[in-house]
Amino acid sequence: MRPSLLDPLFAPITALEGVGPKVAAMIEKVVPADLGDRSARVGDLLFTLPHAVIDRRNRPGIAGAAEGAIVTLELRIDRHQPPPRGNRSVPYRVYAHDDTGEIALTFFRAHAAYLEKAMPVGEHVVVSGRMEWFNGRPSMVHPDHIAPLGGDDTLPLVEPVYPLTAGLSGKVLRRAIGQARSRLPALPDWLDSSVVKKQSFPEFAAALERLHDPADPIDVSPEGAAWRRLAYDEFLAGQLSLALMRANVRRLSGRPLTGDGRFEDAIRKALPYSLTGSQEFAIAEIMADLAEPERMLRLLQGDVGSGKTVVALLAMARAVEAGGQAALMAPTEILARQHLATIIPLAERAGLKIAILTGREKGRERAATLAGLEDGSIDIVVGTHALFQEHVTFRDLVFVVVDEQHRFGVHQRLAINSKGDAPDMLVMTATPIPRTLVLTAFGDMDVSRLTEKPAGRRPIRTVTLPLDRLDELTERIGEAVAEGQKAYWICPLVEESEEIKLTSAEDRAAMLRQEFGDLVGLVHGRMKGPDKDEAMRAFKEGETKILVATTVIEVGVDVPDATIMVIEHAERFGLAQLHQLRGRVGRGAKPSSCVLLYKDPVGETAKKRLSVMRETEDGFLISEEDLRLRGEGELLGTKQSGTPGFQLARIEFHGDLLEVARDDARLILSRDPDLRTERGQALRVLLYLFGRDEAVRLLRAG
Ligand code: ADP
Ligand code: MG
Repeated sequence: MRPSLLDPLFAPITALEGVGPKVAAMIEKVVPADLGDRSARVGDLLFTLPHAVIDRRNRPGIAGAAEGAIVTLELRIDRHQPPPRGNRSVPYRVYAHDDTGEIALTFFRAHAAYLEKAMPVGEHVVVSGRMEWFNGRPSMVHPDHIAPLGGDDTLPLVEPVYPLTAGLSGKVLRRAIGQARSRLPALPDWLDSSVVKKQSFPEFAAALERLHDPADPIDVSPEGAAWRRLAYDEFLAGQLSLALMRANVRRLSGRPLTGDGRFEDAIRKALPYSLTGSQEFAIAEIMADLAEPERMLRLLQGDVGSGKTVVALLAMARAVEAGGQAALMAPTEILARQHLATIIPLAERAGLKIAILTGREKGRERAATLAGLEDGSIDIVVGTHALFQEHVTFRDLVFVVVDEQHRFGVHQRLAINSKGDAPDMLVMTATPIPRTLVLTAFGDMDVSRLTEKPAGRRPIRTVTLPLDRLDELTERIGEAVAEGQKAYWICPLVEESEEIKLTSAEDRAAMLRQEFGDLVGLVHGRMKGPDKDEAMRAFKEGETKILVATTVIEVGVDVPDATIMVIEHAERFGLAQLHQLRGRVGRGAKPSSCVLLYKDPVGETAKKRLSVMRETEDGFLISEEDLRLRGEGELLGTKQSGTPGFQLARIEFHGDLLEVARDDARLILSRDPDLRTERGQALRVLLYLFGRDEAVRLLRAG
């Protein structure tokens, strides 16, 4: 149960004054929480942090105020000059002076009554805004702030600037955030005093205050003490919930899975290649875990194309030898089908019964699969999250493989737990996440890494090319296709709201079809499942030679004889994504190439990303660079790019705090595994505050 003292923060934002449904919808676009299908709450506003400030501390006097500068002036109001009646194009002017000179405050389409009230003739006021000089005469058009002298605490001298979305004014957002702050209840202390001291953290409430009401620009910097404190809180909540989850996984002790190796041997015999050393090593680690009575919780990390699927298959075969069932869950239907395609020829030769279950299987086929899972006649099932819906029952699910776990949440992990009798779990990720991020996303999982590429892989030649040389490129692609090569052509996804006009996949496909006719296929996210499959199949089997795609093919797609990867608007993609995409080629025996098409002008960070791509194919190196460059922003998409899964912690600024938080979380649970002490209760509050409360449900009642 949520501590009731948090109720004010869990109220919908529409409870605030000035926030109706329309404003609320706009605010939902800027709050940092991943809202999913819930609405924004008052508490979400607290974590909506400014990304900059307007410094209004400069008080140079009228004569000393430079053109274009933001200044604050103390003025005496001399006279009002409304526009002539009926002529709204002439502005309303208010003349005022200080010791150094006279200034005209200028208002277009003004409300006279408001201006007369705000600036009575003869009174002293403080105004702040941008200085403009017209023909040597100082003026200020629409000052940002006007306040009576002495009442200038209503005028923010260091004004926070929040992320905005079209239609939402800074004023409205600031006012909502101000109300949210006034609803912050007194919260118990959850931090360890030695950590607080060592890091010089302010109190939680003080940190929020400093960020939303800064006294100095440094106060809103991610590297400032206030932001670091909140980042630490968020890390701690995350690490604590992961640690609780892990403790829970361990608590439900599994059962040892051993076997006589008959399926394993048969699969190995059917393999057309020999496994790499690191595949063998990972398999040995996994098999050893499976044989333990403790539950397994292991991450299999391996770069694109490193061959994770076969490792998973061998492990699943062992689970079946042990008399149980295994499931492999993929994040998308395309991927589920692809895994199935990889697995089926090997598994069937070994005599394993395999089925697929996604949202698409319907009717008799679906009923048959459900029956087979329930009576145990299906050994291994591959699917999407549809596998873990309520009506799916397994006879004896002992092992679950989750592919690309970073797209799933804690919810899914819990749902999986409920399906079997404490199944062992293997999480596969193709993203070569740096160690620090493994920690944020997965906590203390055991990790197996595939560090080698399968033998025979050739390096990929990567080049960059400006978009205005498109004709040349098309010609080269034409030659390659004539030689029997296949090419992917990736276009960024176009959000309708996005301002920048990018070539959409559809337009590009149409253009290429003029040249290459039916050899051009198209696959994008808005297509229906069967149409996507058909496009993939046609490309795989060579009916089409050029596949224009949005990033739906990003993960996992395997067409070994594709040798060319064109990525259009490469400057708009993040490094990790570019690397994933490039990994789609270079899988066969023929040399491959990757063409990064960019459109000038390209920003500094984007330039660096492109050069990293030219220089290396090492996924781990690329992910480290990615992290380093991420601070500089401008990744694809309009949402501010923070660290995935976090609202305000930013790994590039706060990474050092992560390990501290992990150690702290461990210590806490070793002393107080069910969070019952006073600090434990405070930590429960913290978990709710950062939306990590799923973990609270795992605590034993009491
Ligand atoms: P990923 O790690 O990206 O999921 P996959 O498991 O999809 O990689 O494997 C990529 C391709 O490499 C597949 O076509 C697979 O059959 C092949 N493969 C896997 N292991 C080896 C190996 N040891 N030698 C050669 N090819 C392999
Ligand atoms: Mg894969």
